[in-house]
Amino acid sequence: MKPFLSSSLVALCLSVMLWAKPVTTTAITADGGATPASSGGASPATTAGQCRPGKTAPEHLGWRWRPGTTVKVYYLKDNFDEAESKALSLAVVNWNEALREIDADVAFIVAGERAGVVNDHASVTVMRGVPRVKERVGETRFYSLSNDTIRLTVTINPVVTDVKALTSLMTHELGHSLGLGDCYRCRRGTTAMTAFKSKNKGNDVYAPSACDKIAVASGYAGATDTQEARAGRKLSQENAR
Ligand SMILES: [Zn+2]
Repeated sequence: MKPFLSSSLVALCLSVMLWAKPVTTTAITADGGATPASSGGASPATTAGQCRPGKTAPEHLGWRWRPGTTVKVYYLKDNFDEAESKALSLAVVNWNEALREIDADVAFIVAGERAGVVNDHASVTVMRGVPRVKERVGETRFYSLSNDTIRLTVTINPVVTDVKALTSLMTHELGHSLGLGDCYRCRRGTTAMTAFKSKNKGNDVYAPSACDKIAVASGYAGATDTQEARAGRKLSQENAR
């Protein structure tokens, strides 16, 4: 299968888009995603069968980090104040907890500020900037270099200043870094991969939801030492090498 990131440059550009439609409030009960899973392990109320791609769960697009990878998250120097960095780091910590829960054998670490975009393998540089499509509030870009280096940038639109919105946005963008696709049709509150309600409001999800974890777990099931991408189109699909 043709790797997703076979060549040399930007392979993926996904973003949170503004939620243009009127917000329909649906009753989300179990695991609205607003808090980390309370007691370790998957939320008892949610099983893989309840996570329906396009409705309550994002799809895993096939991209994954090599097992054992520690992904370093850097902030571009002076782009975020202390409260903002803390809000972004909360998303990192929450994803890290989720990854441990699902035994993904991948971890994030907040690695501090850097003066420029970091070129190291398995790095994510987070910065302020206007995404290419400027209505977007955030954007994740993958760079796959010829020496097997994969690095990412996450661009946060300056319009997003609210700390909760920043946590929500970062949770969404880190979802992309783990292979999750957008799910703008998903019911609000069911996944971090829905769109924003408005530019400074987030999407009501501030930590990976149970279905996000299940989607990532499906993408990492049977991971081998080969960094590869698979076109996992269905959440429940077993991942072939
Ligand atoms: Zn997105």
